[in-house]
Amino acid sequence: MAVIEKIIETTTKPIRQTVDGLYNIFLGMFTVAKNTTRNPITNQYPEKMPDLYPRSRHRLALQVDPDTGEHLCIACKQCERVCPDACISVIPHDTVKAKSTQFYIDHGLCMFCGLCTEVCPTDCIINTVDFEMSEETREDLIYDIRKLTLTQEQSRTYFDLKGYESKATKKKAATAADPSKLKPHLGGISQKAVQAALEAVGIKKD
Ligand code: SF4
Ligand code: SF4
Repeated sequence: MAVIEKIIETTTKPIRQTVDGLYNIFLGMFTVAKNTTRNPITNQYPEKMPDLYPRSRHRLALQVDPDTGEHLCIACKQCERVCPDACISVIPHDTVKAKSTQFYIDHGLCMFCGLCTEVCPTDCIINTVDFEMSEETREDLIYDIRKLTLTQEQSRTYFDLKGYESKATKKKAATAADPSKLKPHLGGISQKAVQAALEAVGIKKD
C-alpha cells in the first residue's frame, strides 16, 4: 500500500504544483487589473496636507486656560517622572507654589507615546497635530517654555478639538449639578464662619 501511495504522490505532485502556480498567477493578474481602474490614494505632500485625527500625537505643547490666559502648568513634574525617554525637564518656581519657571522638552528624544499628556492633571501638556518640525541641528529640537506655550486662541482650538473643559466650564457644570460642590474661597474667613454662612442658605458643607 505504501508503495502505491508513494507512486500516486510522485505522479500527482507536479500537477498540483502547476495548478497552484496558475492560481497564484491568476490572482496576481486579477489584483493588478482591479487596482488599475482605482483612483490613486497617495497624498502629494506637501502640496496636499494629510487628514490628521484630532488625537494624533505629534509636537508637544503647553496650554493656557482659554478663558483667562493663565498658564496651566502647576509644576507637579508628573510628566517628567512618567516619560520613558527622560526628555522632559520641569523647573519649578523658587518661591511661587504651583508655577514653573522653565520647561524643556527634547523633541529629538521624544517617541510621541503620549504618556506625559495622560498623566497631566491640568490638561496642560498636549500632543498637537503639527508634525512639521524638522530643524537643522538637534539642539533646535529642544523647546523651552516660550516655544512650547500655545496662545490663548491656539489653546481654545485644542480644548475644542480634544474635548477638554476649561476651569470655568467645569465649575459651572459642577455648580449646576450640585450647588454644595461649590468650594468657597476661604481667604481670611474662618471655617466656622463659612460653615455658618453655608448652613444659613441651606447648604451642608462636606
Ligand atoms: S510623548 Fe512620551 S517620550 Fe515624548 S515627552 Fe511625552 S512621555 Fe516622553
Ligand atoms: S504634568 Fe502637567 S502640570 Fe504637571 S508639570 Fe507636567 S505639564 Fe505641568
